[in-house]
Amino acid sequence: RAKLSGRSQFAWYTAEMDSDAQKRKEIEDGLTKALRLDQFEVLFQPQYSLIDNKLKAYESLIRWEHPTKGQISPELFIPVAEESGLIEAIGDWVLFHACKEAAQWEDESLRVAVNVSAAQFSPGITELKVAQALQESGLHPSRLEIEITESLLIANTDAVVETLNHIRSMGVSIAMDDFGTGYSSLSYLSRFPFDKIKIDRSFIKNLGKDTGTDAIVTSIIGLGRSLDVTITAEGVENQEQVTLLRAAGCTLVQGYLFGRPDTVKAHETHRARWSETSSIPAPLKRMEV
Ligand code: C2E
Ligand code: MG
Ligand code: MG
Ligand code: MG
Repeated sequence: RAKLSGRSQFAWYTAEMDSDAQKRKEIEDGLTKALRLDQFEVLFQPQYSLIDNKLKAYESLIRWEHPTKGQISPELFIPVAEESGLIEAIGDWVLFHACKEAAQWEDESLRVAVNVSAAQFSPGITELKVAQALQESGLHPSRLEIEITESLLIANTDAVVETLNHIRSMGVSIAMDDFGTGYSSLSYLSRFPFDKIKIDRSFIKNLGKDTGTDAIVTSIIGLGRSLDVTITAEGVENQEQVTLLRAAGCTLVQGYLFGRPDTVKAHETHRARWSETSSIPAPLKRMEV
């Protein structure tokens, strides 16, 4: 009816909802096409150890190279993919692609982390996909890490735990991403078998600026140590944060200070510039003890 009589006669929210729905539909159609036309790419962001200062892993992060709109952020299209159900196909693509690429890395000690959203997680199926990705790529299970968020644990607890346990029994590790942003983080920790916790970057951002944040981060790290869970800090952007995280006993760091998501080749070139002889990045090397 809007088409017949013109939009201006209708309430403003009608037009607004219309354009929102239109935008979403546009993204959704674009995603379907992107899958078919191979417009996705996986970039990798390095994770460094504060224990020996060395590169340990890369997190895989999807990118959409749109032919006319340029690069589209996952923050924008992942939610649409989740609501439309396309996340399943996109998630499969990332999992298989990331495993295949990691299996070809020269350094076979490096691990690869893959984000699996709650909307794509499916008990009985996800463990089969993981097994298949490992088998097809030849990647050793100990080199794969699945990143999940708390939203997965809110519903369907038993089946989810069973699947997580199944995945762990293959030798794959499970990380809780964006820790601290959900509802009851602490209770999940005692109920689910995590190998790793990633402290959300909103906490790291205020590290050293706010005593409350410092206390929370220090407590999470302490908790991780007593539960024997590895702690990764996300979104590390400066040296001061590294100093505080190191002092608090954090194990791994990831963030723009060490590298933005990029191709592994680009990271290798960057590292070669840091040092000709070691994989220790300048931001960590300077503070070696
Ligand atoms: P995430 O899994 O928590 O990934 C970390 C995000 O923080 C990435 O954003 C990364 O580029 C960004 N980041 C890393 N270090 C810094 C830093 O020092 N400063 C700042 N400001 N940001 C930093 P990205 O790549 O845009 O991805 C956003 C989110 O989209 C991811 O958050 C994840 O939830 C989702 N996502 C990305 N790739 C995938 C995927 O393949 N599958 C699924 N299901 N979700 C994905
Ligand atoms: Mg992640
Ligand atoms: Mg995160
Ligand atoms: Mg996230």
